[in-house]
Amino acid sequence: MVAKGKAIASSVWGRAWCLNLERYSHYMGRLPQGRTLLRRGAVSSLQITAGRVIALVEDERSHEVTLRVQACSEERWGMLQERCGDTVDSLLDLLQGRISASVMAVMTDFDNGLFPEPSELRCVCTCIDDADLCKHAAAALYGVAVAFDAQPELLFMLRQVDAGALVKADMTGAAAGTLDEGALEGIFGFELDVDL
Ligand SMILES: [Zn+2]
Repeated sequence: MVAKGKAIASSVWGRAWCLNLERYSHYMGRLPQGRTLLRRGAVSSLQITAGRVIALVEDERSHEVTLRVQACSEERWGMLQERCGDTVDSLLDLLQGRISASVMAVMTDFDNGLFPEPSELRCVCTCIDDADLCKHAAAALYGVAVAFDAQPELLFMLRQVDAGALVKADMTGAAAGTLDEGALEGIFGFELDVDL
């Protein structure tokens, strides 16, 4: 896994992930080293599943990094959907970042957006560095941004939310009867006032 261009990530979601990392000053010590490792191709594998990233980082020896990312809370996800409103036309547009500046601002809001805060991230590495974030974990975190370039849907999977819920057409599909009312209330985060 390597960063292709000058920036680590080139996609909207990948860049937003990097910006989210870089806003936390206590990460700053290791982030540049993480970027260097990634650029050297040290992240030899990276798997993203719901709430978890497992990466292998080669740095003299092989280190396994596990990143645990808390699920976006139902309350937060409901709020994000409300704030995005009815403006995302398709899942493809959403994943490729073809969304309005206002939707992007909602999603990347530092306090109430989709990206995890440090308290929602736990990094464990097999190295002996006892910093909150070792350089291997930093490399893995940047590797996540590169993965989002290729598969932006992984961001939503990592946060354990259904990206389709932000899309107009999918909302219609859901209301057409594929989910029961209780499930829909969970997704939309407010009480439904429609006949299903
Ligand atoms: Zn480490």
